[in-house]
Amino acid sequence: MATSTVPDLVTPTWEYAPAPEARDIVTIRSNYGLFIGGRWVDTVDGSSFKTIKPATEEDLAEVQSASARDVDRAVKAARTAFTRWSQRTGAERGKYLYRIARLVQERARELAVLESLDNGKPIKESRDVDLPLVAAHFFHYAGWADKLDWAGLGPDPRPLGVAGQIIPWNFPLLMLAWKIAPALACGNTIVLKPAETTPLTALAFADICAQADLPPGVVNIVTGAGETGHALVNHRGVDKIAFTGSTEVGKEIQRSLAGTDTHLTLELGGKAANIVFDDAPIDQAIEGIVNGIFFNQGHVCCAGSRLLVQESVHDAVIAKLKRRLGTLHLGDPLDKNTDIGAINSAAQLARIKELVSVGEAEGGQRWQPVCPLPAKGFWFAPTLFTNVGQSSRIAREEIFGPVLSVLTFRTPEEAIAKANNTPYGLSAGVWTEKGSRILWMANRLKAGVVWANTFNRFDPTSPFGGYKESGFGREGGRHGLAAYLHAGGG
Ligand code: NAD
Repeated sequence: MATSTVPDLVTPTWEYAPAPEARDIVTIRSNYGLFIGGRWVDTVDGSSFKTIKPATEEDLAEVQSASARDVDRAVKAARTAFTRWSQRTGAERGKYLYRIARLVQERARELAVLESLDNGKPIKESRDVDLPLVAAHFFHYAGWADKLDWAGLGPDPRPLGVAGQIIPWNFPLLMLAWKIAPALACGNTIVLKPAETTPLTALAFADICAQADLPPGVVNIVTGAGETGHALVNHRGVDKIAFTGSTEVGKEIQRSLAGTDTHLTLELGGKAANIVFDDAPIDQAIEGIVNGIFFNQGHVCCAGSRLLVQESVHDAVIAKLKRRLGTLHLGDPLDKNTDIGAINSAAQLARIKELVSVGEAEGGQRWQPVCPLPAKGFWFAPTLFTNVGQSSRIAREEIFGPVLSVLTFRTPEEAIAKANNTPYGLSAGVWTEKGSRILWMANRLKAGVVWANTFNRFDPTSPFGGYKESGFGREGGRHGLAAYLHAGGG
């Protein structure tokens, strides 16, 4: 192996001055109801829960917990609204989607702050990645609404009906946009359940629907935990379930819907390989590795959580990576200089810690930069594991946190064998200067998305989705329409 000439770690000798984004742009109500039939309503049994700020554990708001009876009200409101909404022309539906997209842009700063407060992600990510993509998704599908007949999805594409949509906490508003925008463009109506730890931007989105004069019942938002999601999945008035979340819950949903005529798409977990060849532009690859696993604290389904590095450049890559990790800024999510924000919940932090101890017990070598953690809130320092075996749990299981496992390879064939040695198949990355090698690799990698010389790039025109235990169905682009239309116009 080549010996490195890069110093192991450079500790910055200076500190950034605080640069917090103003919080007062957001008004958080103390109590939120459910958004059903265009109105804010209380749950039948009055039960509720708190959503907190993971960076400080401070309470943000009281949110209601929808029972099966509340879900039933929401599904009925969506069913009533479906008749007229689905009969509107595509151009009419597009008009509402354009309006929503513009309102998202107008309120982008407020929504970004709200997302960072409730989720813990750095403001520079919610402001510069999540919110622009949310607006872009609504603009993209607004454009499709009057062109469905020419989308190549049959001569008479028709909406499925009422779509039940369940989303996770890692990209709350972006996952909402991925689901709501295509469903509305195709003429479906919606009951959406956000994750229990991050309901606030979905509730703000309900306000945007009202502001856009969206007809009552076209979008309904019900808050709650797993039982609320379970009630939505098992409501026989729902024509389609679109789920994004863990593979475990996805499997349970698939079992519940087996034998019913409910349509289903599943966007589940991942354990992506980010593969660096010895001819790659190494400095660029370092940025891609960092973005691949430390973006959004590693709470990313397609995170590049397994780094496969060619043996001849292993030492140089690791030395440069350590130096770069030493410059990452962990702290207040609302600070514009923050690179690593808070872990979303105590439960997620406990899972990360558990898998990291398993990694050490199985012989992995843990490394973390000097990184003081705030006293309150949920935090985990960026972490690198070397000496990781393929059979180690940290190389096989989704950690969903800022933890990178490093493995090596010698030949492209070995890289493919190791990259595909996983039950998941959501994404992969290849770093090399050879275009022919990129194509050779992309043809053999069993992953829904393969990035070349970049990582974690998203665009509303590009389909996204998995193979194997990462799920089925595509979101984004023309492919994303198929998930909300009767195939072949039949
Ligand atoms: P999760 O499966 O625990 O929860 C996801 C959602 O499902 C939440 O809204 C939750 O309340 C709900 N839910 C929980 N139990 C349910 C049940 N029995 N029936 C119906 N709904 C239920 O997952 P999570 O921890 O919130 O999210 C992290 C997971 O999501 C990771 O595995 C990640 O990879 C995956 N994810 C995938 C994608 C993708 O596009 N493939 C995108 C983001 C996240």
